[in-house]
Amino acid sequence: MSLLHDLLEYNQQFVENKEYEKYTTTKSPDKKMVLVSCMDTRLTELSTKALGLKNGDIKHIQNAGAMIAHPYGSTMRSILVAVYMLGADEVMIMGHHDCGFGALQPEPVMEEMENRGINPGVIDTLKHSGIDIKEWLKGFDSVEESVTENVAKVRQHPLMVPDIPVHGVVINPDDGKIDLVTDGYEYN
Ligand SMILES: [Zn+2]
Repeated sequence: MSLLHDLLEYNQQFVENKEYEKYTTTKSPDKKMVLVSCMDTRLTELSTKALGLKNGDIKHIQNAGAMIAHPYGSTMRSILVAVYMLGADEVMIMGHHDCGFGALQPEPVMEEMENRGINPGVIDTLKHSGIDIKEWLKGFDSVEESVTENVAKVRQHPLMVPDIPVHGVVINPDDGKIDLVTDGYEYN
């Protein structure tokens, strides 16, 4: 049995036993917030449980490092859709201590790409097209600085509603403690 087939088999039981019923909610967030947090497995549930949020309360976007990597990339697009179409009135960027993406060095990733069959010439070709993979894969030194930068990117985005508060916090993945970095209300 493969992982995929195990998962699909479980799903059949899940639907048959109507286990979905306890997750039933609507498309609009009850608490009108969109949260961007890291895809770290320790935060899959902790990032929302530590704030007392339950299923259906918020829009939740998770990516490597809780970053806005590009002003017109999919994370920023998701935030804008949540704000304009899905009723989110506040944004929260949540970084975390001991972030694997923060500690990421581009060189070992690029080496691993080569080991897995990517021709190093591809990286050069991309560079000539204006895509610097080294820059793209770079983590960050300070999670607080990273959160502050990402909060500013959202707040100053030309398509963002000007008076929407954008908060920044840092969570400890061991005990769930959250420290405030940016209080979005102070900018309104
Ligand atoms: Zn992380």
